[in-house]
Parts: sequence; C-alpha cells; structure tokens
Amino acid sequence: MRIEAAVLRKPDQPFEMAHLELDEPGFGEVLVRAVASGVCHTDFLPRKGLPVTMPLVVGHEGAGVVEAVGPGVTGLAPGDHVVASFDSCGRCPACLSGRPNACTGFHARNLTGRRADGSTGARDADGTAVSARWFGQSCFADHWLATERNLVPVGKDLPLDKLGPFGCGLQTGAGAVLVAVPVGPGASLAVYGAGTLGLAAVMAARAAGAADITVVDLHPARRQLALELGATRAVDGADPDVTERVRDGRGEGYDLALDTTGRSSVVRSALAVLRPRGTCALVATGGDDLVIPPRALTAGRTLTYLLEGDAVPQVFIPRLIRLWQDGRFPFERLLTTYPLAGINDAERDTTAGTVVKPVLVHRGL
Ligand SMILES: [Zn+2]
Ligand SMILES: [Zn+2]
Repeated sequence: MRIEAAVLRKPDQPFEMAHLELDEPGFGEVLVRAVASGVCHTDFLPRKGLPVTMPLVVGHEGAGVVEAVGPGVTGLAPGDHVVASFDSCGRCPACLSGRPNACTGFHARNLTGRRADGSTGARDADGTAVSARWFGQSCFADHWLATERNLVPVGKDLPLDKLGPFGCGLQTGAGAVLVAVPVGPGASLAVYGAGTLGLAAVMAARAAGAADITVVDLHPARRQLALELGATRAVDGADPDVTERVRDGRGEGYDLALDTTGRSSVVRSALAVLRPRGTCALVATGGDDLVIPPRALTAGRTLTYLLEGDAVPQVFIPRLIRLWQDGRFPFERLLTTYPLAGINDAERDTTAGTVVKPVLVHRGL
C-alpha cells in the first residue's frame, strides 16, 4: 500500500515527507494506522554516527489502530488500539527470563531500521529499499508495520493521541525507579535532567512515596515543572557548586542518582551525591566517554545503565496508564503536539530543550 512517511535520506539533512510503498504484514506482523507518535532523542542517533542504512524512517513511540494482521498473529485483531514499544525475540535467555530489554537481538531489531533478518518492508518511489523497522515500527508515517511482540493493547476509551510516549520515554524514566531500582516510601533520589526521562522518574518516585526528590536542570521552566510534578527541590545545573547544592541537607547522601544526560561531568556529580551502597543509574547515552575515578565507587556504590527501565512493556505500560488514571502520573503536562510534517520543528525544539516531549499527530484521522 502507499503510505506517507517522514524520511531521513542523509544524516545531515532535514526529514522529508515522501510517499513509500509498504508491504502487507508478514508472519507475526501487524499493520497499524497511525494516530500519533512521540518523538524521542534516540530517533536522532542516526544523525550522530549510529550506522543505519538510509533512507530511513524513524519513530519508536507509536500509537494507533490495528488495520490488518499477518499470519500467526493471535493476540491482536483489526480495530484494536495499540501502543508500540521496543521489539524483542521472545526466545533468547533474556527474553525467557522476563528481560526483553536485554534480548540478544535487541540491536538488530531496534537500532538498524531493519527486520531481524535484515530485510525491510518499504520501498521508495524508485524501488529503493527504505529502512522502516526502527524499534520494530518506524512510526513517523501514516501507516506502519510492527511485530505483535512490540505492541501493547490499550483500552478503546483512552486518549490514543497522547499514549505514544509510554512506549519508550515514559517507560524508561518511570521503570528506572519502579522496576529496575525500585524506590520505596521515604526514599531519596537525585534526578539529573528534567526532560521526559527525568520528569517521568519524578512522577513515578512521588507516586511510590519517595520523600526527597531533588532535580537538576539548566532550564528554569523545566525546574519549575519538576517541582509541580512532585520534586521537592530543584537545583540549577549551571551552578558552579552544583554537587554541593544537591547534597545540601542530605546527610549521608541519596539512595539513587539518576542521570538522563550521559555526560561524564554530570555522572561524576551524580556519583558524588550517593550514600554508601547507593546506586547511580544512567538512562541515556551522551557525547563523551565516562571518566570516573575508582574512589567514586567506594563503600559499595553502584554505577549501572538501565535500558527501557528494565520493563516488560505489556506488563508495565498498563500499570503506568492506571497510575495516570488515578491522577498520580500526569504525563500529559510534558506533551507538545505538532503535525507529522512538523517533524523538523519538533526536532529543533526538543534539541533546544524548549519543549519536553513532542508528539506528532497524524493527518486525516
Ligand atoms: Zn530475545
Ligand atoms: Zn526512545
């Protein structure tokens, strides 16, 4: 079928709206009519040296309505509402242990823009193959193919135009503090970066009863939003004594420090505010190598990287949606909508930090 998609042809070019030819759903695949898609910083990694064959369609926080299912799909039917998350194989030891984020096929299925076998289901007007399986989905299009495994069914009474960001950003930030390194009542955490990941962690930590939630960010508006969403204190990341400011009044230090920036200097600060045996968790890649003195890990402090919050999407996303319905995860405050064709504006604004979570709303729906 003919679809319209935002296509990236070269790493340094803007996205271009183009018509592509999309295959029928194959074995285990599902055709989804797009309603809206969240925009995540990972969508721009192919601009920064990640080796992906272009032309490429990205987007990995899709939400839409099932239009057709391929052979072997038993859990979804046309008309179902779905949110798309990351893809996994379902057969490797990690998948069988309930850790699909550690799937041995994670890279091939999510970060190459191709199916696990290297094929793609989309072609350009001149017949050129277009990589269109980014995170199993490539949802910056009016229709997209996904696997049954990377789709999460959601209730038809829910606002599908808002739910896409549950598939990656919200799941990653909230999963970090509810699943991977669970914080309990009275816990303390420091969150570096008040973007989607950091703010999702703030809301989730507050819902879990954390007592002390300190947020660090460069933007005053984001610090204010963090305070409104449950942070107990906000510190300017540009303060030359940022580590001391974060530690102020925290006695022996924090149980958890969450870094959403991937910057070495920020991770050093995050490690320096931990209590003995505390955990510093990274959830985003940055531009530089980590330089950490060994003494930063003394007294049993842990440094780790959390991918997709260690969550199983089909289990965790419905849980987060219930938390939202209960008024304790007001994620809609993070969203700014754009039309799909406004993808370049959305990229500019989220890169500048002037919006937190762009959502591309698709035309004609
Ligand atoms: Zn697997
Ligand atoms: Zn993402």
